[in-house]
Amino acid sequence: DEILLNLKEEHEITDVSFKTWLLPLKMNAVNGEKVIVTVPDVEFLGYIRKKYGFLLKITIEEVTGFECDVDFVVENQIQKDSSSGNTLITNSVNSVSQSAIVTANLNSKYIFDTFVVGANNNLAHAASLAVAESPGEIYNPLFIYGGVGLGKTHLMHSIGHFILKNNPHAKVLYVTSEKFTNELIDAIRNKNNFSPTEFREKYRNNDVLLIDDIQFIIGKESTQEEFFHTFNALYELKKQIIISSDKPPKEIETLEERLRSRFEWGLTVDIQSPNYETRMAILRKKEEMEGYNIDNEVIKYIATNVKSNIRELEGALTKIVALSRLDNKEITVELAEEALKDIISPNDKREVTPELVIQVVADHYGLTPLDICSQKRNKEIVYPRQIVMYLCREMVGTPLQLIGKYLGGRDHTTIIHGIDKITTELSRNETLGNTIDILKKKITPQ
Ligand code: ADP
Ligand code: MG
Repeated sequence: DEILLNLKEEHEITDVSFKTWLLPLKMNAVNGEKVIVTVPDVEFLGYIRKKYGFLLKITIEEVTGFECDVDFVVENQIQKDSSSGNTLITNSVNSVSQSAIVTANLNSKYIFDTFVVGANNNLAHAASLAVAESPGEIYNPLFIYGGVGLGKTHLMHSIGHFILKNNPHAKVLYVTSEKFTNELIDAIRNKNNFSPTEFREKYRNNDVLLIDDIQFIIGKESTQEEFFHTFNALYELKKQIIISSDKPPKEIETLEERLRSRFEWGLTVDIQSPNYETRMAILRKKEEMEGYNIDNEVIKYIATNVKSNIRELEGALTKIVALSRLDNKEITVELAEEALKDIISPNDKREVTPELVIQVVADHYGLTPLDICSQKRNKEIVYPRQIVMYLCREMVGTPLQLIGKYLGGRDHTTIIHGIDKITTELSRNETLGNTIDILKKKITPQ
């Protein structure tokens, strides 16, 4: 108890998180330096380990002065092991019935475990987890926006699943705004015996309402009106509302002002396009999930060439696997080129230009090309900018003056200085050498 209370205080764990995650933990055994902690539900094992494992370890050390490793086991698992031979696993209280998932309209594929977190989506991911942990308590509404195929729907379903696992009796409902509109139309027309009262009951009687692609109801007056009332009803009862859109509220032109301001009451987070590393990670995750075994060069080829969104990335992988099975051929880069020739248009076959160098270097450092070309002089930008100078000279052979032009009108002495700086550092700094190699590969995919 003392350890848990200490953990709560020291690390400012909210009451809700404390009750949900920490209070149910039990000390099971101490094996040498290993402290075994029991988790009531297998579904949360990974989450608890990731989120609280380290904190628990350091708190135990602080409170007891005993240096240890923490390991988690599931309660059911122990019963199974100790009652040797008896393989009956008791059903955990929190196991979610299939019917709850169906009623909530959730796709079982989309869970936090299969969502790869990268620089492009970490804020949206963190906010989604926070909301899933304590729905209605912190960010309400949660507004997630971003381009097509970047993971908004995946995150929304993940929140729904998480809440249901945590509380199987929670009323969760996921709908697209298109469905919301269609049902409203049905209700108004009393079609399929669906009355306006039933419509209201269906949408207002939820603990968590997830509305996907809200942009489609924009401009439809009656739908906006109804949604406004639904929103207010839920909000007043402190029910969680989660909304996704392709744009942030302030850029949705035809959004009624009163709705816009409500959307901004909570937290707005965006998802950007994934960078190269995240694309690699997503492909690897997908490969693992599907049980494929694909050569690294092929994965790199896809990650290098398919950049616009994650749906396309998955599509490319599927296409390559399909082609290889169909033709009974090994998966090679050549086969990948063949399979993806429609996806990667010929003009996408990248010619190495200063713009491309700027783009890739910016991407690599989590900056934008505008940052690189700006007049900003902070170290985080100056260094990548000098790398751009170096790579333009080395890979493209761009004249110094021209490099200066591309980089927002810098004179050639600045460029010479930048190139010298990188050249000198390369001779003594191995990690920079490695970085430059990776950047070159990103710039000219084989
Ligand atoms: P959106 O709703 O933003 O258009 P989706 O959520 O439908 O995008 O995502 C498109 C596809 O990409 C889905 O199959 C989804 O599982 C996958 N996907 C998106 N983001 C990720 C991610 N970060 N990790 C793993 N898969 C992802
Ligand atoms: Mg979507």
